[in-house]
Amino acid sequence: MPDRETLHVAEFHGDGISSELSAAVHQVARTLPLTVEFHAVDLSLEARTANADAAYEAAMAAIHSHRIAIKYPTVTQAESPNKVLRERCAFSVIHRPVASLAGVKTRHTGKVDMHIIRVAVGGTYEDAGRRIGDDVAVSIRVIERRPSREAALFAFRLARRLECGVVSTSKYTIQRETDGLFEEIVAEVARDFPGVDHRSELFDALLYKAVLDPENYRVVVTPNEYGDFLSDMACGMVGSLGLGASASYSFDPKGEVELAMFDPAGGTAPDIAGKGICNPSAALLAFAMLLAHTGHRGLGTMVDEAVRGAIAAGESTRDLGGSLDTAGFTAAVCARIRPR
Ligand code: ATP
Repeated sequence: MPDRETLHVAEFHGDGISSELSAAVHQVARTLPLTVEFHAVDLSLEARTANADAAYEAAMAAIHSHRIAIKYPTVTQAESPNKVLRERCAFSVIHRPVASLAGVKTRHTGKVDMHIIRVAVGGTYEDAGRRIGDDVAVSIRVIERRPSREAALFAFRLARRLECGVVSTSKYTIQRETDGLFEEIVAEVARDFPGVDHRSELFDALLYKAVLDPENYRVVVTPNEYGDFLSDMACGMVGSLGLGASASYSFDPKGEVELAMFDPAGGTAPDIAGKGICNPSAALLAFAMLLAHTGHRGLGTMVDEAVRGAIAAGESTRDLGGSLDTAGFTAAVCARIRPR
């Protein structure tokens, strides 16, 4: 029999429920027909307070040698670890899939299955602004060619795989130069994907139409802040801000992914940390995205469906109205993976 493949993953530990999420991911990894070797880096507040540079250097060394990382929630105090990692890894694109989950209460009846591809830098988020006297403040908004192109390329490649179209969205009739440049770059990339439909929509109109007919939005590419707003709105539509995962990517000069980091959307949940009751779904969905990214698409789908299947069957943690603790839910997920 050939040796089992070994997947090397940098694993960034954080605070609060981080160790419980990690335990769930490891347990699910052990059910897979490949060996996953996790290379732990401590990014907890304690480690960062003791020596922030050493902690981040270790994280950089691990992600550069393995190219992929899973990250658990970290406390933001002096600095935001997410911001530090984004800058040091040069992450330029965030991929946030948001899909309806059977078994999760929502006030929205439409079926959401949306991939939000967001430029991770620029927009209005680089500049906190400045005061001019007491009554006026200004800030600069930045749109850059390279990250916009990387986001567009990622969106079109994803859409080609999903056999759907791409919607780009911004306020190009008002921010004519900035969002105009973004749309121009997306249109350029679109020309290299003749089989993938592309349309641009004004961001305000898109919000309205996406609430009415979410089925018409599968892959949406957009500048930084709009992606932030749209992600939260889409999460509201599926009834949960904390159940999703996201991926951050950096790219080589040819536009191929260089580094990828996967993380659950939720926070550190200090109020329930250490009690063994947190919901590890988002961390497991992040791990599923990681598997798919590394070419193990079938395994990624299996983990993703196992998480969704368990929740749909009511085998869920207390935050979703179920009665399972973290270990019980993880076992339910593993049980759905094993039989295949
Ligand atoms: P942070 O400052 O890291 O964002 P927080 O507690 O302010 O932490 P969240 O972690 O998002 O913010 O938690 C908000 C609420 O949701 C808390 O009451 C927490 O217990 C609950 N919560 C968050 N994540 C989970 C989870 N994985 N499972 C169960 N409950 C959770």
